[in-house]
Amino acid sequence: MSLSEFNLIERYFSARGVRRDDVALGVGDDCALLRVPEGMELAVSIDTLVEGVHYPAGTDAAAVGHKALAVGLSDLAAMGAEPAWATLALSLPAADEVWLHGFAAGLFALASRYQVQLVGGDTVRGPQVISLQLHGFVPQGTALRRDGAKVGDLIYVTGTPGDAGLGLELALGKRTAGDADAHYLRGRLDRPEPRVAAGRQLRGIASAAIDVSDGLAADLGHILQRSGVGGRLELAQLPQSPALQRLLPDAHERWRYALGAGDDYELCFTVPRTRRAAAERLCAKLECGCQVIGHIEAEPGLRLYQPDGTLLEDSPHGFDHFGG
Ligand code: ADP
Ligand code: MG
Repeated sequence: MSLSEFNLIERYFSARGVRRDDVALGVGDDCALLRVPEGMELAVSIDTLVEGVHYPAGTDAAAVGHKALAVGLSDLAAMGAEPAWATLALSLPAADEVWLHGFAAGLFALASRYQVQLVGGDTVRGPQVISLQLHGFVPQGTALRRDGAKVGDLIYVTGTPGDAGLGLELALGKRTAGDADAHYLRGRLDRPEPRVAAGRQLRGIASAAIDVSDGLAADLGHILQRSGVGGRLELAQLPQSPALQRLLPDAHERWRYALGAGDDYELCFTVPRTRRAAAERLCAKLECGCQVIGHIEAEPGLRLYQPDGTLLEDSPHGFDHFGG
C-alpha cells in the first residue's frame, strides 16, 4: 500500500484530534518524540482486535474505532493512569474509505474526550487486525496494581457486569430482546465506556485493581492470585442492569453472566476498611455506579455465597465455560 498508504494515513490519521504540548513530534517522521512529565511513570498497554474474534464481523466501523481505543483506556484506568498518547497498527484487506471514515470518527471522538493524541502507527495490507498501544502517566509509586489486596479488604465493582455478554448474544442472533434493551446491551458491547475517572480517583484509596475484560470471576481471580489471598462474593450484591434482569428471569443465569461474561470493561478493586468512607464517597459520585460485592479472605480461591447465606457448590466451575 505504498502511495495509497501515504494518502490513507494523511487523510485519516495525520494531524487529527487533540494536540498535546508533551508531544514534540507526532505522526509523519520515523518516530514520535514524547515528553514524560517530571515525577511521572509511563503506563503502557497494547491490545489487538481481530474481526470475528474480538468483535462480530460487520460491526459498525465507528464502534470498532471506539472499542480499539476504549479497551486500552480501560487498562490505563485499572492502573489509575492518566491517558496521553496512542499508536495504531492497522492491517486492512483494502483501503475501504467508508470503513476508514467511520473507524477514524469513532476513534477520534473518544480520543478527544480523554485528551489522547495519536502520535504514530503502521498501516499494512492483510486481514483486518487492529493493534492500539496506549501510553499514560501515573505519579511515581501510586499506580493501582493487582498484587496489593489484603485480608479484610472490601471488593468493589463498577457498573453492571454481564451486559456486554448479553449484547454479544444479541449481536450473534442467539437471543432477542425488545428494542430498548437490545439498544442498551449492544451499546455496552460495542461502545464500552472506560472507567478512567474512577481509576484516577481510586489512587490512594484502592489496594488493588483490575479491569474486567474476561469476566468478573476470572479477573478478580487474578487479583486474588497475585495478592496471595482468597475472596468471598455475595451473589445478592452483584449489580445487575434492568435489561439483564428482564432478559434473564433466573437468578443463576444472571450470576453466570455477571461473573462469567467478558468485554464489560468495568473496574474491580479492593479497598482497606480504613478507607471505606472515601470509597463510598467516590462511588456515590460515579455515574456508572459502584458497589461492594464481597471481601478478601486468607484462604485461596473465590467462594460465591447465595442470598440465603449458603455457599454455591458448583462455583466457580459453573462459570468456566463462559469465561475468557
Ligand atoms: P516508516 O516506514 O518509517 O515506518 P510509515 O510509512 O510506516 O513510516 O509511516 C509514516 C508515518 O505515519 C509515521 O510517522 C507513522 O508513525 C505514521 N503512521 C503510519 N500508519 C499510521 C496509523 N495507522 N495511524 C497513525 N499514524 C500512522
Ligand atoms: Mg512503518
